[in-house]
Amino acid sequence: MPPVPDILQIAVPVPLRRHFDWLAPAEYPRENLLPGIRIQVPFGKRELTGILLNTASRSDQETGKLRQAIRVIDEVPVLGPMLLGLGLRMADYYQTPVGEALLGMLPALLRQGKPRGDLLPQTSSSSLHVESSLVPNADQQATLDAIAGAGDAFNVFLLEGVTGSGKTEVYLQAMEKVLLAGKQVLVLVPEIGLTPQTLARFRERFSLPVVALHSRMSEKKRLQHWQIAEAGIARIVIGTRSAIFTPLLNPGLIVIDEEHDTSFRQQDHFRYHARDVAILRAQMEGIPVILGSATPSLESLHNARAGRYRHLCLSGRAGGASLPVFQLTDMRSQPVQSGLSEALLAEVRTHLSAGNQVMLFLNRRGFAPTLLCQECGWSAICSRCDIRMTLHLREGILLCHHCDRRAKIPSRCPECRTEGLQATGQGTERLEENLSEFFPQTPIVRIDRDATRRKGTLEKAFARIHAGEAKLLAGTQMLAKGHHFPDVTLVGIVDADSGLFSADFRGPERMGQLLLQVAGRAGRAEKPGVVMIQTHHPDHPLLTLLLQEGYSAFATALLLERKQSLLPPFSYLALIRAEAANAQAAKCFLQEMGELIPSDSTLSILGPVPAPMPKRAGRFRFQLLLQANLRSVLHQALKKALPRGETLPSGKKVRWSVDVDPVEMV
Ligand code: ADP
Ligand code: ZN
Ligand code: ZN
Repeated sequence: MPPVPDILQIAVPVPLRRHFDWLAPAEYPRENLLPGIRIQVPFGKRELTGILLNTASRSDQETGKLRQAIRVIDEVPVLGPMLLGLGLRMADYYQTPVGEALLGMLPALLRQGKPRGDLLPQTSSSSLHVESSLVPNADQQATLDAIAGAGDAFNVFLLEGVTGSGKTEVYLQAMEKVLLAGKQVLVLVPEIGLTPQTLARFRERFSLPVVALHSRMSEKKRLQHWQIAEAGIARIVIGTRSAIFTPLLNPGLIVIDEEHDTSFRQQDHFRYHARDVAILRAQMEGIPVILGSATPSLESLHNARAGRYRHLCLSGRAGGASLPVFQLTDMRSQPVQSGLSEALLAEVRTHLSAGNQVMLFLNRRGFAPTLLCQECGWSAICSRCDIRMTLHLREGILLCHHCDRRAKIPSRCPECRTEGLQATGQGTERLEENLSEFFPQTPIVRIDRDATRRKGTLEKAFARIHAGEAKLLAGTQMLAKGHHFPDVTLVGIVDADSGLFSADFRGPERMGQLLLQVAGRAGRAEKPGVVMIQTHHPDHPLLTLLLQEGYSAFATALLLERKQSLLPPFSYLALIRAEAANAQAAKCFLQEMGELIPSDSTLSILGPVPAPMPKRAGRFRFQLLLQANLRSVLHQALKKALPRGETLPSGKKVRWSVDVDPVEMV
């Protein structure tokens, strides 16, 4: 046997797009040095946990200076060949430093170098019983036939169906086949869509081990579930974004529910999109993936219409429920009290007195978005972000929603000393208060980040809704996601206008998705639903198109606009962002970075320009936008420029990052 070479190529979590070399620890059995194991190494004065990529007999670093690795942590790789391969391809695709990408795939405890725990003894998985599947309707059957007909090879299915059309039932029946074949299923849901209700639905259906993986569980439990999945014991894994990296012994199917949801995109460090990673993983594993949504992303719709994905549609609501009726309420033409129109208040009254539940949706938390002096025009501004602070009356503070800075509520205007500053505008906290004045006898529950911060409060609130205890539900988009409340017959959208005029080119797409998701909460069971939308722009062409012709026509119009202005999915974008306490430093760095990227007719560079939010937490923010007509052009340019950009002295004074396929331009 040839001697196993002594040089270890290791990816460590540092912001550099390369691996580093170490010497193998003395006396460690060389044949145990498998790619994907964790190794503790000295790095400068620190010790880091890295991932072994390969062994080699030669190093391109100066071998005299190589240091010895401290300790091998694993016998069995934490990243098996498939996940390691996936991680390397993703690091390349997202232009992320390889160590940050690979370590970013692991549960926190493993990332910190902790040992794997012991697997708890599991109840032996008995054979599969399937409880109470429903008889599929014609649409569902056609969909299931198409999925079954494609076999168990790699295929992407886009399952488009209005909320309540029975998509989940399709997932369950498609999963049944895979589970019967002895394989595992990975289901991804949006950040806040993973409720005990969702889990219960899967557990009730299949008599097999189901585990959840999400950020609200303890790290210890998360690692346990990760290991149960790796060992093949968990047959169904349901999780949020990062669950896409769960090792599976015998994978058979991936399901992405609400595939359009932006929480699938990680917004810091390792900026991946779990949906896109899922497609790559399914391709590498050679298994099908189902993307489901009532309001698919324009990217997925475009791929489906171009024939790259199989497009499956469920047209009506399953189980006989009808679609809700939309009513636009023109705020300019009627009395409005505390942000609520006469028409909406009357409708709320009607639905409540019929014994039903009413949901009011406002995507703005806190009491009021502005605290204003009516005498001199002063308003409370965050000094670190140059942006208005939100009044949170119950907590008794002013809060910056961008940097979390807190400030006391002044009793007088700091400029002109006038007393009685005015809370202007309405957030969910104020909405709740106003509702309790209009409907003093009606139990109200508020659902937003502030009201559900403590552990268990969200679950409790949902339980109160399901038990019929709460009649009026007020909240942010947390209310909009995936829940099934059979007694909600009226949904009121308090302010539809903020989404209509957005600086982000994805604004209208988001507005349409959110509106339909919220509306989808109405009339999900036998009782028909009404959706009232308050707006000052009842004639807005996008709004009327969405409500009169539906999401498909709306999406077609948006795709045409994107095509005409050469925006994704008709071009490929990357953002290089930089921020620093000194505005000039951030701008200069991007200027030099831009000079490293040759632009021509296939690649254009915009900037450096101030970011749409030019200052945050005391730092000035700039960005450089790269736009290419081919993905390969974009990637080649980044691959050439970034390693050189890393060595720019001006980069030392700034925080910078790269975002490939950015979903938010801020
Ligand atoms: P979605 O995931 O599209 O929102 P679900 O699968 O949750 O839809 O179905 C919505 C409701 O319709 C659920 O109460 C479900 O039990 C019911 N349902 C789904 N498919 C059928 C069917 N084939 N027959 C009767 N009821 C159904
Ligand atoms: Zn004043
Ligand atoms: Zn701030």
